[in-house]
Amino acid sequence: MTTSFCAGCQSHKEESELKACSGCSTVRYCSKECQTEDWKVHKPVCKKLKSDEVWGIKLLCNRDLAALPHSPNSSEPEISRRIEHILLNKNHPVFRQGDLCPTTQAYGFPLLIYSDGIHQRRQTQGSGNQPALCLRMDVENGLAPPHWQIVDPDTCIIARRDYKPLTREAMEACYAFQFMLPSDAYGWPEEDGWAPGREHITRAAFQLFYKKYYRDQNEVGRAQFKPIRRPL
Ligand SMILES: [Zn+2]
Ligand SMILES: [Zn+2]
Repeated sequence: MTTSFCAGCQSHKEESELKACSGCSTVRYCSKECQTEDWKVHKPVCKKLKSDEVWGIKLLCNRDLAALPHSPNSSEPEISRRIEHILLNKNHPVFRQGDLCPTTQAYGFPLLIYSDGIHQRRQTQGSGNQPALCLRMDVENGLAPPHWQIVDPDTCIIARRDYKPLTREAMEACYAFQFMLPSDAYGWPEEDGWAPGREHITRAAFQLFYKKYYRDQNEVGRAQFKPIRRPL
């Protein structure tokens, strides 16, 4: 028996009980109601991908963020406005030259981050991209490497090394987790000058964090956040 899960209500079902979305056949639902409920979230990514395409993220620098029209939704955190879904070709330099984010890798999320400024030594306008530095942090000290801090990374491209699709929600939660890692705000023990130590950056720790994160987001009306039922 093969089990899968409904992309709407997230419940585990036998595959025969689920119907694939006819638009993209990448997600499955247990009922018409579940599909309708999920459509707002699924619509932007409901596309038949070519075999050399994959969903990634564009992480906007301050300049590109400032150029966006003002968001009328005040419950939306700034980071969410910085994250745009983009279709990447598997030939994109992020897959060949991008840095594997060591911290995300430590909790089982193999993210590659790529910047024209860093990887192509292309001159950027230096408007700042703090979230990019946060994602690129090293496990040992909670900081991005010096060359990431000297050269402004500008707008970056992020993708999963394993070519799995990267959702905006997973990206946002990942950033929120990274952001609190170098602090002891969550009551984790301080070790060697910064908290938590490497042994606390685990898949289980991230999943615990995510559980609270998605509930908090649901409470402010962001229904696109769902419990993790699939392995990251
Ligand atoms: Zn369902
Ligand atoms: Zn679809």
